[in-house]
Amino acid sequence: MRIKNFINGEFVEPIGGKYFDNIDPSTGQVFYQVPDSYSEDVAKAVEAAKNAFPQWASTPAAKRSAILMKLSNLIEKNLDRLALSESKDNGKPLKLATTVDIPRARDNFSFFATAILHTENAMHDMGQSGFNYTLRSPLGVVGCISPWNLPLYLFSWKIAPALATGNCVVAKPSEVTPVTAFLLSELCNEAGLPPGVLNIVHGYGHTAGQAIVEHPETKAISFTGGTATGKIIAGIAAQQFKKTSLELGGKNANIIFADCDLEEAIKTSVKSSFANQGQICLCGSRILIHEDIYQDFVEKFIPLVKNLRVGNPQAPDTQIGALVSKPHLEKVLSYIDLARSEGGKVIAGGNRIKLEGPQAGGFYLEPTVIEGLSNTCRTNQEEIFGPVVTLQSFRNDEEALALANGTPYGLSATVWTKNLDRAHRIAANLDVGIVWVNCWLVRDLRTPFGGSKASGMGREGGIYALNFFTEPKNICIKLNP
Ligand code: NAD
Repeated sequence: MRIKNFINGEFVEPIGGKYFDNIDPSTGQVFYQVPDSYSEDVAKAVEAAKNAFPQWASTPAAKRSAILMKLSNLIEKNLDRLALSESKDNGKPLKLATTVDIPRARDNFSFFATAILHTENAMHDMGQSGFNYTLRSPLGVVGCISPWNLPLYLFSWKIAPALATGNCVVAKPSEVTPVTAFLLSELCNEAGLPPGVLNIVHGYGHTAGQAIVEHPETKAISFTGGTATGKIIAGIAAQQFKKTSLELGGKNANIIFADCDLEEAIKTSVKSSFANQGQICLCGSRILIHEDIYQDFVEKFIPLVKNLRVGNPQAPDTQIGALVSKPHLEKVLSYIDLARSEGGKVIAGGNRIKLEGPQAGGFYLEPTVIEGLSNTCRTNQEEIFGPVVTLQSFRNDEEALALANGTPYGLSATVWTKNLDRAHRIAANLDVGIVWVNCWLVRDLRTPFGGSKASGMGREGGIYALNFFTEPKNICIKLNP
């Protein structure tokens, strides 16, 4: 099976005619072939988007909204098929794809389809002498580039606000997990999205992805992925004064104070450490525990971790599926070796799992917990992005904050305490974009989403995304006395 590029409403081969294999991580077998696209494919997609732009931009918001709602409904109608493809492409448990990934992709479209029906533009009153009003217009052709960990979820999180605000899009999903984006392109035609409004080019990042960033006609780049890639994109975009939204890596702290509801904190920490095989940018990969409850936490947390069922992602009782690819599995294993060499003690997991039968070639890893490391070692400073967490103890609030803030990243943090003053004080002093208090990954799509420091630039979600994908223009009216 081959997937195709989606340009001007048609399914087309890459111009160079080359494809590469896409592997099912649960078996290690070839699943699909992916177009190996280059700048000439991107140029075709940009041309189609540019031609479609005037009409799409002038389509009334209510009509754009109706088409995107139809797309959202079609995602719901195809939920099982999309979820199975997502699970096979990414290795994530089918249950997770069915209950989280695909419903969220559906909601991304309905959220922004309805958001554009309720916007207001600013007016700045200068009294007797006049007033200003602000118009917001779509940018034109925009580029959206997404990663492999939450494939359709994050792909749609970008293209939904871009399309809703009247832009035409050239998008590239991760080359590692392109299948649901391809299936989405079929649904776009069914929903009546006009040709050229959304174009999807498949291929590698340094070729197809970079060509989207470099193309002089893409006016903005919305990117989610690694910090190193974000740096390359920021450098290219800056030369052309292109708007960028960069959602990058994380090394998030999960802070457990002695006065928390420990049972709840432990239960949620199992999820925040290992959901999606630990491959969520928001996972709490460093668990910081007050010294008074450290032993208690370890004694209760470790049995739950050891009980997690790792297995075939399509089996209904699987809690941990396969890592996304062999190179990624090798990278995560190399970090476990590094942790040992840095003096860390592996107190749960640490090994690759070989399953039987069709899954024998899959990329499975035991959920891994490591203690005894300093905050400054590489294991606690670099993003591992797998089912690996470290435990550290702290003595007081100041030390907890210093540890939490002591990495180059600033995406999110979780705080567990029943003390309201402490919760507010710690939250205000965490140098991150998102703080969860006594919960994790509770999402309201209106809130600003993104990170500080090496975790990125700009915010997605709600009005932040609508503003990113539009250009404000102030019009000043002078009144004569
Ligand atoms: P990646 O940076 O390797 O790739 C992301 C996307 O960028 C892919 O589509 C890739 O093909 C493309 N790309 C790669 N090089 C490019 C280039 N030179 N120019 C343009 N595009 C290029 O990241 P990944 O390995 O797919 O995803 C994992 C990373 O994503 C982790 O660091 C994770 O923390 C991060 N992430 C961040 C968030 C967030 O919201 N902050 C969410 C999910 C994942």
